[in-house]
Amino acid sequence: MIRSKRTRGTRNTEVSEPMGAADSNGEEWHDYVSDDVLAQLSKHQLPHSGLLHEKAASLAQQWHFQYVVAWLSNVCESYTTTSYTVEQDGGGSTKCLWKSIKFDEGVFVTDVFSKIDGKDSNYYNDEVDVDGASQNLYDQIRLQLLHQLAGNKSGQLRDWNVIVNHHFENSSAFSDLVTTSPFLELDIARQFEILYGIIKLVEVKNMFFKNYLVNNLHLFTFNEIILDDDNEEGGTRSMFALPNVGVLVEKTMHRVKEDPSSQVSQTLNIPIKLQNCTIKEMDPKMPDSVELIHLEYSHDIDAYLQSITVDYKVVSTGWESMLEYWSQNRDSKLIDEFITSLIPTFAEHRLYSAKILTNREKERAIAELMTRRKRSSRLVAKEEESKKKDLESEWFEKLDEREQFIRHRNKLVSKEIKKLKDLLWGQLWQLYDQDYRDAKLTKRNELTDRSGSGTPSLEPFLGKDENNPLNEIDNKVLDHGPNFQSGIIPLEQPTPESLGLLSTADVPELPTDYCITKEELNELANYGIFTSQQEPDSQDSVFQCPGEPELAPMVITEDSETDLFNNHPLVCCDQCYRWQHWECQPPKITELISLTTKPPQHMLSQRDFGVIIMGNSHGNRRSSRRPQSTPEPSSKSTRPTDKRKPLGECSTFICGWCMKDLELELRNIFVPELKIIRAKQRKQQEDRERRKKMKEEKKRLEQLAKQRELTQSMSPPTFSTAFPHMTSGPLPGISAYGTPNLGTIPGLNTNAARPVIAYQQQMGDKTIPQPQPLQQPQPPQQQSQQQNFHFQYPPTN
Ligand SMILES: [Zn+2]
Ligand SMILES: [Zn+2]
Repeated sequence: MIRSKRTRGTRNTEVSEPMGAADSNGEEWHDYVSDDVLAQLSKHQLPHSGLLHEKAASLAQQWHFQYVVAWLSNVCESYTTTSYTVEQDGGGSTKCLWKSIKFDEGVFVTDVFSKIDGKDSNYYNDEVDVDGASQNLYDQIRLQLLHQLAGNKSGQLRDWNVIVNHHFENSSAFSDLVTTSPFLELDIARQFEILYGIIKLVEVKNMFFKNYLVNNLHLFTFNEIILDDDNEEGGTRSMFALPNVGVLVEKTMHRVKEDPSSQVSQTLNIPIKLQNCTIKEMDPKMPDSVELIHLEYSHDIDAYLQSITVDYKVVSTGWESMLEYWSQNRDSKLIDEFITSLIPTFAEHRLYSAKILTNREKERAIAELMTRRKRSSRLVAKEEESKKKDLESEWFEKLDEREQFIRHRNKLVSKEIKKLKDLLWGQLWQLYDQDYRDAKLTKRNELTDRSGSGTPSLEPFLGKDENNPLNEIDNKVLDHGPNFQSGIIPLEQPTPESLGLLSTADVPELPTDYCITKEELNELANYGIFTSQQEPDSQDSVFQCPGEPELAPMVITEDSETDLFNNHPLVCCDQCYRWQHWECQPPKITELISLTTKPPQHMLSQRDFGVIIMGNSHGNRRSSRRPQSTPEPSSKSTRPTDKRKPLGECSTFICGWCMKDLELELRNIFVPELKIIRAKQRKQQEDRERRKKMKEEKKRLEQLAKQRELTQSMSPPTFSTAFPHMTSGPLPGISAYGTPNLGTIPGLNTNAARPVIAYQQQMGDKTIPQPQPLQQPQPPQQQSQQQNFHFQYPPTN
């Protein structure tokens, strides 16, 4: 090997004898390093003291490992290749053999162990194609070595054993390295033996490497000193420094004991470059011809190699151990000078490594951060999605419950309205009939007085006009009947615009749990959830009371100071949603509602309705329970609605004004209804008259027949033969056609609170129809019409 020294000049290279023995504090090396490098080194914290951590300590003792690292430093972009660039090529760049790989021992060792320990999965994805994508230096280098060994770039790491074993099997030196175990599962030392073997094969076989070697011989020529020349065995002991920081190796060359007559020279001197193996010789006699003589050294080389054995021993494994070795061997001027000449380079190399490792840590931290961020943004998106789903289902559940509540409330209200209408309809007829009876009596008395005798004619009680079936008394009662004319509901409609605040589109007085709020709609919009419900529910409560008819409706505000609705029992009309004083309700209202209960009950009291009391002093806690089992509403709710008893737990309340509306509605259909009844009654009357005449005629015929029977001995055909079905039943008595009694209402006690039960309440000949009476069927009347023409007997009426 050629001896050469690195010639990196530093200011202290010449000061080979520094302070002497006093400098045993371990910092003597400072004297050999430039201030600039020292300053920078102090700024950079070296991530790994001495670059190799504990695990690598025994590995560092191995020549194979150190050689692999040195070799990689020489072929990759590294401190070694880049620092030589400037000095040796005058600024030109060294073309590294492996341009794509940036190598440094610290990074390499870190990656080797993270790969073997499987720790790097946090930021390296081993599952994707490792070959192309791996960021791990150990992967990259192994792949590169594989390509170099195979001589092509098609090999992949999963083909490692196939390719490597193939080459090892064909070489006598490394055949014992053939293994079937997965490379990464081998002992770490074994892994580097294999890598060493591969490198050695590459050095011998690979043309690219050979060219690289020739062009960069300086990289592979390590600084070396001879420690012991020509020892007793005829060998040599020397020490050389690898480019690896602080790594000194002792090389011992043994001469194989040989036959002294051997021609093999003690030393081998051969040209390293191939071109120097060819000698050009010109024959002076033949000036135009050149003779090329190829010098054949292979035999010499083989013989030489056969004659020696070389041992390598790692003396120091890194910066610290080199310094230690230095302090122990400073007595030797040779070693002292050798090491002090190395210190500046190694110090710079350490700085380079420190910077690389710092950058690496930064990149790693960023990569980790990105991974975490990616993961967390995925997590956030997932959470958002599930929140959206929850929100959606909650929303539709709420809409559903809200819908059910509204439907339930509407059902209760319309049921109550129907009952009240029936009740009012009955009472209206009652009032009318009372007046009618009085008026008829008066009329009858008048007629009796006038005629002076006998049964008065019924004529005045039946309308004469075909188009207006109402009779004289009807008209009188309708216009002037004292009972009929007075209203059932003793209330006047309020003077101001009573419903101004209660827009018909709103569904007011919803319990807060069911109310759709602006916030909810906004949240739904934020999550992109579509809903047909676009407007928030009004949460206002409106106060308007029959006791204060002059007051316009007003919104009950949260902290209203007014005594108008604070500390008074308040009741809300379920029909018009106006809150009113309980005390201002006419008794007739509660009386009517009480009559609609089944079975008819005592007078309902405020306890039976959802009566509440506003104001702090009378927090009506008991009635603030909510529908269903939902937890108590926020006790902060000051809405009167939320203080009510839940729907269905109290009687539906319809206020006086709403009842007044019902009464007016019924009064509007009263006259048409009366006309229909009167028309029917007249028809019935006419039918009876006609039947009476026919009956009389029949009787006359029968008598005639009897007379004939008596007077004639011969039997003529009997009536029963002519009309057999007519004789099958008993003869009807005259009483079946009793005089129509239009004026009396038997069995109706106006004081008794009883509901109208049936569709037709028979009162004498009269029928009280239902409040939807315009197409009501009246089967008895229809039948009687038919009877007129079929002469059916007996009449079913
Ligand atoms: Zn009032
Ligand atoms: Zn009302």
